[in-house]
Amino acid sequence: MDADYDLLIIGGGINGTGIARDAAGRGLSVLLVEMDDLASATSSKSTKLIHGGLRYLEYYEFMLVRKALNEREILLKAAPHIVQPLKFILPHEAHLRPKWMIRLGLFLYDHLGKRERLPGSKQIRLEGNDPDNPLYPRFTDGFTYYDCTVDDSRLVVLNALGAKDRGASILTRTKFISARNEGDHWRANIASGREITAKVIVNAAGPWVVDIIDDGLSLPTQNRLRLVKGSHIIVPKLFDGKDAYILQNKDGRIIFAIPYRRNYTLIGTTDVPFEGDPALVRISTEEIDYLCHHINAYFRKTLTPDDVISHYAGVRPLFDDATEKASAVTRDYVLALREDGGAPLLSIFGGKITTYRELAEEALNKLSDHLPHMGVNWTAQARLPGGAISDMDDFIQAQQMQYPDIEPALITRYAHRYGTRMDAMLKAWRKDAHLIGPGLYDYEATYLINQEWATTPEDILWRRTKLGLTWSEDDVQSLEGWLKSHI
Ligand SMILES: Cc1cc2nc3c(=O)[nH]c(=O)nc-3n(C[C@H](O)[C@H](O)[C@H](O)COP(=O)(O)OP(=O)(O)OC[C@H]3O[C@@H](n4cnc5c(N)ncnc54)[C@H](O)[C@@H]3O)c2cc1C
Repeated sequence: MDADYDLLIIGGGINGTGIARDAAGRGLSVLLVEMDDLASATSSKSTKLIHGGLRYLEYYEFMLVRKALNEREILLKAAPHIVQPLKFILPHEAHLRPKWMIRLGLFLYDHLGKRERLPGSKQIRLEGNDPDNPLYPRFTDGFTYYDCTVDDSRLVVLNALGAKDRGASILTRTKFISARNEGDHWRANIASGREITAKVIVNAAGPWVVDIIDDGLSLPTQNRLRLVKGSHIIVPKLFDGKDAYILQNKDGRIIFAIPYRRNYTLIGTTDVPFEGDPALVRISTEEIDYLCHHINAYFRKTLTPDDVISHYAGVRPLFDDATEKASAVTRDYVLALREDGGAPLLSIFGGKITTYRELAEEALNKLSDHLPHMGVNWTAQARLPGGAISDMDDFIQAQQMQYPDIEPALITRYAHRYGTRMDAMLKAWRKDAHLIGPGLYDYEATYLINQEWATTPEDILWRRTKLGLTWSEDDVQSLEGWLKSHI
């Protein structure tokens, strides 16, 4: 029998959408179902780094670090509008890790993977008593190295757009309910009583991956997840400049303090074992205290929980490698393919935002015997939607000249959100456009509804843009009212 689709993908996080884009580009017919919004779970709750993971070297995860370091360069090129280099300052704390150990770690970090665009690491003198130095003067030595920062939820949306451009069907707010094996294919029930057939199911449900196998498919599996909560706080900016800080803690963990959206600092993260419904994960007061306490050990400006203007928490769906400590569980992924003669099921355990592209490639290569008509690897050289930009500054300047009637700051924001697709978004621009709330005009909201699957204020304010940080309750209500009359 001819199935409706080659692939049914469950989950619209980074891994599901990454696989959908790759598969559609190989000529496969793809349906992706996401029960909520794209990136509504873990993929919008990250530290927003495309990084090798300096810390993982201590756990001898050389292969993972190498893979991730290589991906930094690929993603910088594929999506320069949403991925930018970020310099990290690591203040030296002699009693936590000796200098030779950090030097060795950074040497490996510089050389394990391909590094074309990002500068190498350095040992530096910190500014001691200089009044502009945000750190306590006792920190006299440090190191610098580079990774990248990314708008995580937009990376997911770009992958979904890339999949759609190549013919994939992406259904948000559509839950996968169950499926049964019928000969060489699956018959699946999805929300609203719809039934579809697919040759292969890819289970990219993140923290719910085991629930899909246990409850939705009623299949046995030995693989388990370790759910580890991680939380972040956002505070008014703690320091000037564009560089981020990586801070060592006595418990062996590290905390990042990252410049965020010009006026803020993003601080995270924690590692707390998690049980329960991942959709209900929330930061605890203990985590807020922990993050403030840790920051106060380094920065002169005292941070209290009252300074926190926003926060978020997510659940890492880590592959359970039986490690005791939550922060030490492997961050690498495992692709589990069921091949017992029935229709194939590929389940994704673990993975990082950073490694999603490689994960998708590996996932499809694993399925090649079952889908022999699929094309070859292609994503390493391809740009993500809007990403065909060689120099971001030149691009922004050209856009400001092309749209002289639009405020330059707005053009800069659009450039970083839509890249070369901002022309499509601005097609409906008018001088008398309606301002729905701070920074959001009706033409942009309409584009997000029509092209990017947005349906709620949260989709628009937190995942397609980050305007939510500065919006009041009244502003959100205005948007809600506007959406009711426009969807
Ligand atoms: C605190 C924290 C910080 C992190 N920082 C970084 C970082 O800086 N860099 C980095 O590279 N990685 C980071 N990560 C890791 C990264 O965020 C995750 O590994 C990644 O987002 C997982 O993506 P996913 O697609 O597997 O899962 P998810 O994003 O959770 O997506 C799974 C999707 O499946 C959907 N779903 C579930 N069940 C169903 C169903 N029945 N039907 C339909 N849809 C369903 C869910 O709604 C969800 O949207 C961090 C993680 C956390 C928690």
